[in-house]
Amino acid sequence: PDTSVVRSASTPAEVLRRVFGYDSFRGNQQDIVEHVTAGNDALVLMPTGAGKSLCYQIPALVRKGVGIVVSPLIALMQDQVDALTALGVRAGFLNSTQDPDERRLVEYAFLNNELDLLYLAPERLRLDSTLRLFDQGEVALFAIDEAHCVAQWGHDFRPDYLALSTLHERWPRVPRIALTATANPATHAEIAARLNLENARHFVASFDRPNIQYRIVPKNDPKRQLLDFLRTEHPGDAGIVYCLSRASVEKTAEFLRDNGIEALPYHAGLDARTRAANQARFLREDGLVMVATIAFGMGIDKPDVRFVAHLDLPKSVEGYYQETGRAGRDGLPSTAWLAYGLQDVVQQRKMIDTSEGDDAHRRRLAAHLDTMLALCETVECRRQRLLAYFGEEHPGRCGNCDTCLSPPESWDGTIAAQKLLSTVYRLQRERRQKFGAGQLIDILLGRKTAKVIQHDHDSLTVFGIGTELRESEWRGVVRQLLAQGLLAVEGDYGTLVLTEASGEVLGRQRQVLLRREPERSAPAGGGKPK
Ligand code: ADP
Ligand code: ZN
Repeated sequence: PDTSVVRSASTPAEVLRRVFGYDSFRGNQQDIVEHVTAGNDALVLMPTGAGKSLCYQIPALVRKGVGIVVSPLIALMQDQVDALTALGVRAGFLNSTQDPDERRLVEYAFLNNELDLLYLAPERLRLDSTLRLFDQGEVALFAIDEAHCVAQWGHDFRPDYLALSTLHERWPRVPRIALTATANPATHAEIAARLNLENARHFVASFDRPNIQYRIVPKNDPKRQLLDFLRTEHPGDAGIVYCLSRASVEKTAEFLRDNGIEALPYHAGLDARTRAANQARFLREDGLVMVATIAFGMGIDKPDVRFVAHLDLPKSVEGYYQETGRAGRDGLPSTAWLAYGLQDVVQQRKMIDTSEGDDAHRRRLAAHLDTMLALCETVECRRQRLLAYFGEEHPGRCGNCDTCLSPPESWDGTIAAQKLLSTVYRLQRERRQKFGAGQLIDILLGRKTAKVIQHDHDSLTVFGIGTELRESEWRGVVRQLLAQGLLAVEGDYGTLVLTEASGEVLGRQRQVLLRREPERSAPAGGGKPK
């Protein structure tokens, strides 16, 4: 390849202009580039789309030797290398998808200083041959992309990343730059500790994405709700719909197609070729909807994703932020829309209870879920809440989230909470029974269902004491009590049990404020045939 364009540029500003074709740096890119070019370590915390790549690409081009970029995104390496090659940058990659001959060619190029950037899958660092290779060539810097993968506190831990600590021990003089779009302070601290980057300068950009509108709605008929949302707000727009399971990905994609929306499925159960083809279509064509599990999206650079919809509750606020962050990278108005319901809480508790790993791991997962629930049930500005979770202050009232746009009414739910909790109490204490939300609500509403009669629940003193609320409102009460830790879910069947804090409500020492459930919205367009 013609490398003159790169070789003749020698300062960061020149490389920015002549290689990448941009007039000016963005945000704190310039500080970062100068810091790393001078041979110093950096930890870069920047939201998706802010321009992390240039922060290591430019120093790699300016410094002598080859920039090594460690990245878990193996599927994207070819695309990244192609994009750089098109700019005249000499780039290559090493990962398990190549045969030994292909790898040998890249290694040869590396040794002969014929590369500017070498992308590397983290598992290659476990091989002695890789480390020897670095000894024989000249390394300009180590860039550690998606650095949160080293943190167990995060949502995307990769054991291979732990090997990255050897880089510093073995090549103490080669500068390292670790980058992540993860915003959580606990994760930052863990990255710094695990990668020995305590003394590195930290560059923290604001994580606010003002063009993204955050909306969280109670889930009742999710596919219908999604369809209404797409038809009324995003007709013809490109977007991503996240579902928890492969089965629901398939069903949702089919449902959207049946309703005239071009939707493609993406999950780990599809063969690699179908996945790659669907991803390529999504990137290249306009207005496609990708229905996917969270296997989709890391590193996807599509600027005009106009919405990200979640049909199931994300496992953590970090996950939610990452996934919604794929919307609106071009800075234009975009929507993050999430439908969540009681069943999500039940399902996720169950997944946590049965997850592998020790108790500490389960406690971490439970803490993540709790903060996600608190975000869903807040009556305050969602953006303020979201950024506060990442240690960033925001005055609130952003004007671009659902609670700012139509402030939810809150109501004194103390009596409702007492009714519900005493129903749980009676079953637990008097009958030694545990039931899920459905049965509890039937009891409160005084419904003589077969199951109520079978268990003689119509003889309980609490039978029929809750007719002042609708079923959907009772579901909202259960959900919010779960979010507030006043009720807990256990076991395979989503049975509800009291917590220590429940006693404070039953003993009238604690008031419970609840968010009013919106009336179920009428389907847009009215009277559509089912
Ligand atoms: P990140 O890795 O932080 O998600 P990227 O490095 O992929 O972001 O950059 C996002 C987009 O912004 C890319 O299309 C990139 O070319 C563009 N970009 C980055 N820096 C600049 C800049 N200084 N001027 C103009 N565009 C930029
Ligand atoms: Zn707001």
